[in-house]
Amino acid sequence: MKATTQADAAPRASVAPPRRLDALVIGAGFSGLYMLKQLRDKLGLKAKVFERGHGVGGTWYWNRYPGARCDSDCYIYCYTHDRALLQEWNWSERYPEQPEILRYLEHCADRFDVRRDIEFGKTVVSTVYDEATKLWTVRTADGETVTARYVIAAVGSLSATNVPPFPGLETFKGRAYHTSQWPHEGVDFTNKRVGVIGTGATAVQAIPEIAQQARHLTVFQRTPNFCVPARNGKVDPEVMKARKANYEQVVQNIRSSFFGFELSFIPKSVLETTPEEREAEFDRMWYEGGFAFWLANYQDMFFDKKANDVISDYLKRKIRATVRDPEVAERLIPRTYAYGTKRQPLDTNYFETFNKPNVKLVDAAADGPIEAITENGVRAGGKAYPLDIIVIATGFDAMTGPLKKLGIQGRGGRSLAALWEDGPETYLGLMVAGFPNLFTVTGPQSPSVLSNMPVSIEQHVEWITDCIAHLQSRGLTTIEATPEAQAGWVAHVAEIVGMTLMPGANSWYMGANIPGKPRKFLPYLGLEGVGGYRKKCAEVAAQGYEGFTLST
Ligand code: NAP
Repeated sequence: MKATTQADAAPRASVAPPRRLDALVIGAGFSGLYMLKQLRDKLGLKAKVFERGHGVGGTWYWNRYPGARCDSDCYIYCYTHDRALLQEWNWSERYPEQPEILRYLEHCADRFDVRRDIEFGKTVVSTVYDEATKLWTVRTADGETVTARYVIAAVGSLSATNVPPFPGLETFKGRAYHTSQWPHEGVDFTNKRVGVIGTGATAVQAIPEIAQQARHLTVFQRTPNFCVPARNGKVDPEVMKARKANYEQVVQNIRSSFFGFELSFIPKSVLETTPEEREAEFDRMWYEGGFAFWLANYQDMFFDKKANDVISDYLKRKIRATVRDPEVAERLIPRTYAYGTKRQPLDTNYFETFNKPNVKLVDAAADGPIEAITENGVRAGGKAYPLDIIVIATGFDAMTGPLKKLGIQGRGGRSLAALWEDGPETYLGLMVAGFPNLFTVTGPQSPSVLSNMPVSIEQHVEWITDCIAHLQSRGLTTIEATPEAQAGWVAHVAEIVGMTLMPGANSWYMGANIPGKPRKFLPYLGLEGVGGYRKKCAEVAAQGYEGFTLST
């Protein structure tokens, strides 16, 4: 009998007709799980999820580095559409750790009964629109092909790993791990010389944990960060009980808020306050922990450099008071951008870690940048740092990166990646002109990463669900953003951010962390925040999907 070979199998696979779906969702994180539930159970569509990982959870499936936990308070870092779930689920900590959040999402997948329609290990490589059939054809790396009327990219904003092209990385004889591709079995740092590259929100969580285990830790810092204490702790059962009793109000609060939290700015200029008055407010927010210092500070913080300087001075004093070696403290103080214009990392003993005898800070400005990775470690500023393990905490090709990887081609075979060479252009961060029936959950130019993600995710999933229901009920086949509406939205996004200090920072919000990426603000900072954005999206729908073309 002749054995079946690869060559035999390939033609059979390629002639098999593509499976026909009504809707394909890409990604099984917070967005994809809820999207699938809505499409299948609310709209009765034949829908599937393709997920590149081997489990649900998205960001919480991939990011398993030591110290990984959410930065939003647990009682609002969850689905809110399922009020019974809000009552039933009990979080253990103010900021639960990655395994607990992953358990929550696994529980949700079971509760929503969506696992049977999720296909794991499916990396989408091509997503092509056929103008004749008005269908999308989606192909995965393993050769599977499906067609679908609707494609919903639920790929997350921070899922395209950024490993900078450090010369010699492949020659390193120890182990190197990017934080977002962390081994499921964990990494043992005992007795090891470890290097961490990066000092963003991820590294700020990982560094204190690694320093406790490693023999020696070297932190390679390119840009210092303003950190604020998380003030994590066990959830107080009485506080949780009160919140559960008041969840209707909580949900209303976060949905109409500026950033998706129960936080709002102090409606005053910091420059109008006395030093005593503002110091008391700063202390209150500092000891409260979390994002209050960032997102509920004086209202001119993001707009006026003088106001910003007053606020950041408080944080600089905190660094000096915490770090014993004055030289190290000065190196840990940010000087090149305004406070809050880079994502606020929340820390637990981050600055304290630099007081440990086994921790060394290498500062790219003072000591010289990373030049290469060698067989034995890192070479920076002409000096060799021998290492056993390198932790690459260099972040992501944010927001546009995950979408560009899907090989999307719309009308006329136009590639989304090529179209976005100078930066993303979308209408409401939900759709792109020339790409009918392709929806992006928390896409570029939507509040997304500038909000408590589950709040924005639910809003988008529900808007998309209603939109598809609208099409289905009227016998319509396609919806597509008009170029005019899109141009208006792009200009609006730029205009608003142009009033703030945000464009001045070399942040991933600006695409500045990836060499060659256009310097464009990626999310949407609305004047009325996520509440105003929600209203805008609802109005667009109520006016018969204003700014979209709907056709049969
Ligand atoms: P990040 O904020 O982009 O930080 C990456 C770090 O690596 C920065 O310090 C960056 O320096 C440095 N870096 C990048 N390329 C480098 C190079 N070629 N040489 C030397 N250093 C380099 O990435 P992240 O820390 O992974 O965080 C990304 C986002 O994920 C966060 O902002 C946040 O939104 C999200 N996150 C959320 C949580 C949570 O909610 N719990 C936790 C972690 C992360 P520069 O600053 O100079 O670019």
